[in-house]
Amino acid sequence: HAKGKGRNTYRFYAAKMNARSTEQLMLESALRRALERGELEMHYQPKLNLQTQRIVGVEALMRWHHPVLGMVPPVQFIPIAEELGLIVSMGRWALEQACADALAWQKHGLPQVLISVNLSPRQFESRTLVADVKAVLDASGLDPSLLELEITESAMMANPEHAVELLRAIRDIGVGLAIDDFGTGYSSLSHLKHFPLSTVKIDRSFVNDLSQDADARALIDGIVTLAHGLRMKVVAEGIETAAQLEFLRSHGCDEAQGYWLCKPVSAGEARDFMARHLRNQFAPSVLA
Ligand code: C2E
Ligand code: MG
Ligand code: MG
Ligand code: MG
Repeated sequence: HAKGKGRNTYRFYAAKMNARSTEQLMLESALRRALERGELEMHYQPKLNLQTQRIVGVEALMRWHHPVLGMVPPVQFIPIAEELGLIVSMGRWALEQACADALAWQKHGLPQVLISVNLSPRQFESRTLVADVKAVLDASGLDPSLLELEITESAMMANPEHAVELLRAIRDIGVGLAIDDFGTGYSSLSHLKHFPLSTVKIDRSFVNDLSQDADARALIDGIVTLAHGLRMKVVAEGIETAAQLEFLRSHGCDEAQGYWLCKPVSAGEARDFMARHLRNQFAPSVLA
């Protein structure tokens, strides 16, 4: 009996594993063609300057519209793209698209905003990264100071010596650098001084914990003090309530990004949001 049962259990798991890998294989082959089939799209999430109340930047976030599955979230497809090496070409496309959209907003008459594009660890290891970024900027004509690259703390810490070298080369083109999801990795606050960063992005888990957790509040104070001491800007992500926004503003955080202000939206919607925000800011009712 026991033997038979064991075999069935094994079969059950084997079938489950096969089902999973078939699904995985289908996703992989679909992702290989996603770029050429035009299934990728860049969305943008505005960032608010907490002192001036102006929209001063946007984060570019990739979306994949699978013809059958619909919208596949980045947490699902970015790791696959990373594993297959597709992220290098997808990331280059993301940069091109983001630069093009930023220029289109400028032509539309909107004030210039900083455009931040995420880099995956694999892109960060690519030998052609600096040349790629340069080439995309040259081809688009976007001012390099209007571009920022977001790199996660863990990607940076995987090989800190390489990271410092690469970050310097990127900074030398005039492009800004942000450390993303800060606080989730293994680096201590003091590591920050070794990297030529312009921005620290506080991970949204700390923002989420603000109301219940005194440690999260203390951590934010610590990050803000240290980052400002190193002449870096502090951006908090994942702001979902007015209370979180107020806490961050009163504790010296420079910029905020989150659903409370605006979810990531298409380039057209982002343009409309920025135009609307600008109009409301100067509306008589606001000034009165
Ligand atoms: P990330 O760079 O930390 O991006 C912020 C994520 O937080 C985005 O998720 C955004 O939609 C989400 N978010 C923003 N505000 C809120 C909020 O108020 N509440 C909550 N719960 N979430 C909020 P998204 O778009 O699903 O992207 C997830 C991750 O995928 C990104 O995290 C980034 O690491 C990666 N990713 C996205 N686009 C790209 C890309 O073009 N290239 C690379 N390499 N990675 C990307
Ligand atoms: Mg990011
Ligand atoms: Mg982040
Ligand atoms: Mg994050």
